[in-house]
Amino acid sequence: MEIKQYIENSREQFRTALERLVKIPSVSADADGKYPFGKKCGEVLDEFLKICGENGFSVQNYDYYAGSADMYENGEPELGILAHLDVVPVTEKDWSFPPFAVTEQDGFWYGRGVTDDKGPLLAALFAMKAVKECGYRLKKNVRLIAGCSEETGSEKDIEAYCERAKMPPMVFTPDADFPIITTEKGMMRFAFGGDFSCSEIISIKGGTVVNAVPSEVTAVLKGNVVISGEGVCAKYENGVTEIVCKGVSAHASMPEQGENAFTKLLSVLAGSELPENDRKMTDGLLKMFPHGETDGKSLGLACKDDSGATTCVFSIIDFENGKLTCKADMRYPVSLTKAKVTESFGASAEKAGFKMFSAVGNEPHTVDTQGDFVKTLLEVYGGVTGLPAYCKAIGGGTYVHGIEGGVAFGPEFEGEDNRIHGADERAVISSLLTSAEIYAKAIIKLCGGERN
Ligand SMILES: [Zn+2]
Repeated sequence: MEIKQYIENSREQFRTALERLVKIPSVSADADGKYPFGKKCGEVLDEFLKICGENGFSVQNYDYYAGSADMYENGEPELGILAHLDVVPVTEKDWSFPPFAVTEQDGFWYGRGVTDDKGPLLAALFAMKAVKECGYRLKKNVRLIAGCSEETGSEKDIEAYCERAKMPPMVFTPDADFPIITTEKGMMRFAFGGDFSCSEIISIKGGTVVNAVPSEVTAVLKGNVVISGEGVCAKYENGVTEIVCKGVSAHASMPEQGENAFTKLLSVLAGSELPENDRKMTDGLLKMFPHGETDGKSLGLACKDDSGATTCVFSIIDFENGKLTCKADMRYPVSLTKAKVTESFGASAEKAGFKMFSAVGNEPHTVDTQGDFVKTLLEVYGGVTGLPAYCKAIGGGTYVHGIEGGVAFGPEFEGEDNRIHGADERAVISSLLTSAEIYAKAIIKLCGGERN
């Protein structure tokens, strides 16, 4: 039988396996006995390894950090496929379908994890199965690796795997987009601030997460402060003025799509009659982050190359009792390094009157687009779909960030909205099956498959 046909015939088996995984609400949690990411992540790994075993693959459990299924029992794997079994939490009231079940409607499967990343994990497993059952024999072994804590951003599952086993030399993850992601910008998170004895500003608070453009900020000032502007609302009561300033939220990797509420507030305050010592703080912040600027220019870090441009978001502010703590998210192109970005940010902060508290992040990730590995994946993708096959650069980081030579390869096709991390997460059934076909053909090509 041909690969495509085999996978189409496996649809119901695929769905049954998916149901077995989606049923378990595997939100990564604190360690619980022998389970480093909680009982549910342990349970889902056991179930996954059971499915792999039932389908004739040899499995391994890396102390419940991760698990794997090898195509063949012997031989160090040369191709690794890296996916994850943990999911993000759900807000049940926002769902129109039961989140921990698979519901089919109008060509979609609905359920938490069907696209991120349980469905794609199974697409890779069924790809391996198709290769085997269609009579191909590979020269190189394949390992499907399932991590249990991708969503926490800690990479502890991959670290633990690497302490216990080897990462194959060729790795792709079905945990992002098609065609293929070969470049991921570097990312830094900065914390900075200091002590400021303001005469009029009592507090400024805003921002919920470090990786988003803040959409709201609240400042409390002494006395009756008359201030106005679009999206700015001031209310005088009990001797203080509360100013609420609204912007537009956006992901930190695309800040130009939003409007930063903090910098808007700061520029409004800059036009008011604040005393000198209050200005020290507000003007200092505005110096680092002028309103409307998203490319890190004032930090000396504006830079643009093939991997994209620098983006910088001032995302969290907390000022109260004379103490200011701020956070910023920065994505930077491959032409810059972590050291350079950290140094420049620190120097700019100091110049503006702030101390840098911490700088955490990683280097950009980039893979040779002219190498055989990437070329083969592109060829297979183009061959199966007939769509343009090309390499992409993104501002976010995928599961293979930091794994040498690793790329993201699917499963989402351009133009699809599968509501990842949101309510009513879904997968286009035909797309999921097409990705399984792509993965099967990639395995055959990369691993020297020949038909018996
Ligand atoms: Zn994911």
